[in-house]
Amino acid sequence: MSDNIKENLEYINKKIAIAAEKSGRVREDILLLGVSKTIEVPEIKKAVDAGIDELGENRVQEILEKYEKIENVKWHLIGHLQTNKVKYIIDKVALIHSVDSVRLAEEINKRAYQNGLIMDILLEVNIADEESKFGIKPDELFDIVSKIAEFPNLRIKGLMTVAPFVENGEENRLYFRRMKQLVVDINAKSINNINMEILSMGMTGDYEVAIEEGATLVRIGTGIFGPRFYA
Ligand SMILES: *Cc1c(COP(=O)(O)O)cnc(C)c1O
Repeated sequence: MSDNIKENLEYINKKIAIAAEKSGRVREDILLLGVSKTIEVPEIKKAVDAGIDELGENRVQEILEKYEKIENVKWHLIGHLQTNKVKYIIDKVALIHSVDSVRLAEEINKRAYQNGLIMDILLEVNIADEESKFGIKPDELFDIVSKIAEFPNLRIKGLMTVAPFVENGEENRLYFRRMKQLVVDINAKSINNINMEILSMGMTGDYEVAIEEGATLVRIGTGIFGPRFYA
């Protein structure tokens, strides 16, 4: 893989455009979220200079550290969120992708109310029913959606999933298709005027397949920044 972030982005943007066309859409219909976890600020700034304007992190602490140093971007929390940490990020993120319980939603609603804002959230679904993964089980989703829909300071914008780690993205196609069907089914129920428009799925290994199956937001780290090194 190229170590040139700008070239990586050009390549990914081309692939996104092709996959979007295959699903009857255009490049502009898909949001590319740059996943900047473990990446140092100067590297992230290169991506921002090359056009990335929304960044995703999976740890609260890492958003707090980078928040002041990188301007003119929207931050997304994409990793598991503990209720006791909601207060630190409530006024710093544009979208929380990882809401997986009514209890967590209740806490976000409370903090959003205290801050005088409406928080946009996605519900995380454990679509492959993996032991190791967070997320709501598909058969519990409708019940949880209707409960979370009652919170006045939350807006449910859609669903998110972290699909299984696979060598070939094609292996996740049926999971992505099921995710899209869940969105369609929920919208068909017209729960308290919920209209889901965001489907956050697809990472470096499988984003093209995810888009072909209906993703509106892909979360890409390695494909932009190269491999991550954990100290
Ligand atoms: C790390 C991460 C990504 C990006 O993964 P890559 O394979 O590096 O593109 C996407 N979503 C979540 C939730 C992540 O934690």
